[in-house]
Amino acid sequence: ALTAGIVGLPNVGKSTLFNAITKAGAESANYPFCTIDPNVGIVEVPDHRLVKLTELVQPKKVVPTAFEFTDIAGIVKGASKGEGLGNKFLSHIRQVDAICQVVRCFADDNITHVSGKVDPIDDIETINLELILADLESVDKRLSRVEKLAKQKDKEALAEQEVLVKIKEALENEKPARTVEFSDDQMKTVKGLHLLTTKPVLYVANVGEDEIADPSNNEYVQKVREFAANDNAEVIVVCAKIEEEIAELDEDEKAMFLQELGIEESGLDQLIRAAYNLLGLATYFTAGVQEVRAWTFRLGMKAPECAGVIHTDFERGFIRAETVSYDDLMAGGSMTAAKEAGKVRLEGKEYLVKDGDVIHFRFNV
Ligand code: GDP
Repeated sequence: ALTAGIVGLPNVGKSTLFNAITKAGAESANYPFCTIDPNVGIVEVPDHRLVKLTELVQPKKVVPTAFEFTDIAGIVKGASKGEGLGNKFLSHIRQVDAICQVVRCFADDNITHVSGKVDPIDDIETINLELILADLESVDKRLSRVEKLAKQKDKEALAEQEVLVKIKEALENEKPARTVEFSDDQMKTVKGLHLLTTKPVLYVANVGEDEIADPSNNEYVQKVREFAANDNAEVIVVCAKIEEEIAELDEDEKAMFLQELGIEESGLDQLIRAAYNLLGLATYFTAGVQEVRAWTFRLGMKAPECAGVIHTDFERGFIRAETVSYDDLMAGGSMTAAKEAGKVRLEGKEYLVKDGDVIHFRFNV
């Protein structure tokens, strides 16, 4: 399963946020495919469409979909003693599929900051530089190997050399490898390099309790937003401390608390959705009277593979996918109405499943 790693310098609020994640965490019995590991938090993906589908179908059971956050906290501390972030930290980042970087945007004199003052951009650059340096080392190693073959006019080696040189140039300018543009073919080579700075990133601005209702006055958040815009990255504003409290509440209490705070959606819920998108994940639904359920797939997956998310038998015996988009189903008001309106399609093996598809799989057993 794909996972989003939570990273950040010490004392920025990572543990507090990760605590909120595990407390809010999903019932792992529903998600047998998820990792059981103290550093992994399973979260349910908030989705208003699931609520609406439930109202429409009135099933016996409702199951949201879930995915994993991995806590890469703690490791930074020992590692940040002048020697970069340390190999252990980097190897943990290497294993995640996207990076959520927590940045301290709250001023609190009681909590020391590793570099002596709150400066979110400096924090971001500190971490990014470590990742860039680690990649530079990987790229240099690879280059020296490939160069020998390239001299002998080996075609593959020449192609890889071109990619490596491009990346090296970016890294030397302190730019992450994800900022470099590549052709589809080159992209395959890039993926094979397993670099750290090709992973998608979002920034989590951790603000103070009194700022969460209106973070626009927080100058640190403004700075992070400007930085992220240049990096094509999203910024999610949270107050980790408040999220920790919210995570203890039931649905009704949570709604009331959020209303009191003057916010529509909790920062954690926003983070969950943003991380899910960042991982390239999307949701399709099955909607029967027994169970309405959300399922996660990777964008780009075809119908049989998506059927396989439910059960491998579904993929092996795949015949077709009776599919209606969530919007068409809602516009029709019922499955029957959607069928009569010709909105339910019979899709085959080559169908690329879309986010929001409501699917009934037909398969041979
Ligand atoms: P980590 O080292 O990045 O894991 O940071 P922690 O989660 O341990 O947080 C460091 C300190 O900052 C703790 O004392 C937290 O209670 C505090 N902290 C975390 N988030 C907030 C916040 O949103 N507001 C305030 N005032 N303090 C926070």
